[in-house]
Amino acid sequence: MNGNVLVYRGEEIAAYGFGDPHPFGTDRHDAFHAELVRAQLGDAIDYGHPRPARVDELALFHTADYIDRVSRLSEEGQGWLDDGDTPAVPGIFGAASAVVGAVLCAVDEIMHDNYRRAFVPIAGLHHAARDRAAGFCVFNDCGVAAEYLRVKYGLARIAYVDIDAHHGDGVFYAFEDDPDLIFADIHEDGRYLYPGTGSPEETGTGRARGTKLNIALAPGATDAEFFAAWERVEVYLDAQQPEFILMQCGADSLEGDPITHLCLSEEAHARAAAALCRLADRHASGRIIATGGGGYDRRNLARAWTRVVQSLAETR
Ligand SMILES: [Zn+2]
Repeated sequence: MNGNVLVYRGEEIAAYGFGDPHPFGTDRHDAFHAELVRAQLGDAIDYGHPRPARVDELALFHTADYIDRVSRLSEEGQGWLDDGDTPAVPGIFGAASAVVGAVLCAVDEIMHDNYRRAFVPIAGLHHAARDRAAGFCVFNDCGVAAEYLRVKYGLARIAYVDIDAHHGDGVFYAFEDDPDLIFADIHEDGRYLYPGTGSPEETGTGRARGTKLNIALAPGATDAEFFAAWERVEVYLDAQQPEFILMQCGADSLEGDPITHLCLSEEAHARAAAALCRLADRHASGRIIATGGGGYDRRNLARAWTRVVQSLAETR
């Protein structure tokens, strides 16, 4: 067992983005990795190189028709994958498959006891549904990873914890009636921000009714409101006893993001990641993967994600 954090990098995942003037540019990967180098975490980090996810792996979560459609539009390289947020840029199928592949690589490394903690920037594409793209997200890496953990490794209780400013609707609705997918999401109130969902009354449906946690913060909310909400997340996760934790640590919840209205600092991300490491140690043999998620101010995403990696490295 290696006590280091496994951090993914490579041109394959850096290529996921939509070019100028789209907020999700391909420069986000390098902005983060430059800051990570500056932080001099040194011996605490090992770098992993992604492989693309195979179609049969994507199909653990996505429909065959949708995977075909992305492949076709990626070759055509024009138009939209959704109603106008997610352009069908050339090669997007390969880049989106690489993002999923990086998360699945991290799952394999952790489940083979090579590492306990991993970070995958660019991943955390939480708006993609089983059958469609949405909100800059083509394939839902966390959704695929949850299914992969079940099918390949036989885990039952997987937690998804999301502190991106936007509600993780692609994950939430895919598992809305599934009580074993443990779901906690702190986000900006959907009355003021895309995708408009995630009200506290949405606690799951059918057998899962009452099992999921959505917490909406008012526009302008700061760390104080976040940490009050976060206490509820910790109590919830302790009761749910997950076997593996997937974190989506979108940096668009930080003050200054150009497309949201929350005013958190990177301290929120650092402390949330540290708390999830302790929870993972209590319940999940230490197993946690953090994904970068959103974040459109480059300085914010670089600092917040670096603080998350630091927390993953130091909380043991
Ligand atoms: Zn977001």
